[in-house]
Amino acid sequence: MRGQASERMTKSLGSLSSRCPSVEKLVITISFYSAQQVLLDQKTRTFESEDTCDFVFPCAGECGTGAFNFNASIDQLTAAEQPSVEIAAKCQDRLYTGPRSVCGCDMKCKIEATYLPAEQP
Ligand SMILES: [Zn+2]
Repeated sequence: MRGQASERMTKSLGSLSSRCPSVEKLVITISFYSAQQVLLDQKTRTFESEDTCDFVFPCAGECGTGAFNFNASIDQLTAAEQPSVEIAAKCQDRLYTGPRSVCGCDMKCKIEATYLPAEQP
C-alpha cells in the first residue's frame, strides 16, 4: 500500500474534500435575530472541495463573544447524505451590561449539501 505516507495528519481544519469526501459543495445560510426579533445580520457562505472546514460562526448579538459551531451538524448531515438541515439556537453567552443576563440572540441556519455523483461500478 503505497501513497499513505503522503496523507496529511491534520485533524481539525482540513479541506472539505478530506473531511467529507462525498460532498461537492456546502452552502450555509445563517441569520441572526436579536431578542426583540430584529434581523441583525444574514450571511451565506459556500464551501467547496478545497475550502477549509471552518464551520464556526461568531454571534452577531450583543455578547461579542458567542459562537455557533456546526461541525457536529455537518458531520451528521453528510454522513447521512441528507440534502439539507435547518438549525435554530439561542446564544447563551453572558452579558455584563443591560437588563438581560444572557445574549439571547436567535440564530437560524440552513445548511445545504450537494453530493458528488456516486461512482458507477
Ligand atoms: Zn451572542
